[in-house]
Amino acid sequence: MTLFTFDDMKKIKRETLGGLVPLELFRSVRLIGMYQGLPMKGKNTTLTVGREIGKSMPVESLEDVLTLFEELKIGIPKIIERTENKIHIVIEDCFCEGLPVNEGNMVCDLEGAILEGALSKIYEGKINIREIKCNVNGDENCEYLIHIS
Ligand SMILES: [Zn+2]
Repeated sequence: MTLFTFDDMKKIKRETLGGLVPLELFRSVRLIGMYQGLPMKGKNTTLTVGREIGKSMPVESLEDVLTLFEELKIGIPKIIERTENKIHIVIEDCFCEGLPVNEGNMVCDLEGAILEGALSKIYEGKINIREIKCNVNGDENCEYLIHIS
């Protein structure tokens, strides 16, 4: 069932409040609603939700995906290592930057699943993305490791 496409999301007609909502609202949905409010920190849900969003995106290359990720202000992705079947990405200015540190918690799984969904449209074979670092965990950055098999 496709009621809405990604392009539909850009059809905004709000005269007074316009097209932006504050970061604290996005964070509240993500962290209070999903991470805290769902069983298992929302793990299965974030994977499904993120992949669906990623698959709906109009992208044709890795560069498209990374550009869109930044345009949506999720964070600024930079490739730090790339081989034939592995891409290591660091996220600067991630949406989670500045939150209190809670060691043992990595909270940017949905954003990784968005990347995974979007990349699955580009690469043949299976895409597997793993969140390996997160600001909230006390790491210096958020990082993802992508395997293409
Ligand atoms: Zn993060």
